[in-house]
Amino acid sequence: MCKVLGHSPTFWADGNTMRWECERGCGEGDGSKNYASAADAERYAKALNKRDNEDIGKRAPLLGLLPLRIWRWFKNRNQQG
Ligand SMILES: [Zn+2]
Repeated sequence: MCKVLGHSPTFWADGNTMRWECERGCGEGDGSKNYASAADAERYAKALNKRDNEDIGKRAPLLGLLPLRIWRWFKNRNQQG
């Protein structure tokens, strides 16, 4: 799966170390990076998780359109009925 889609890492802070692990549990996308302080590690972990979530939204545009399609379907259904 990761070979096709790329890894899907989750980031978290562990003291002044930022760690990440592929959420699919493949064991290949894991890693860690040291920062000067625990606050830095946490800040970077949060920023990277946020970017990851935004990327998922961009990768699945059809999913974002789904509520609109459902709403239109209800609207059409009510007009006909
Ligand atoms: Zn992976």
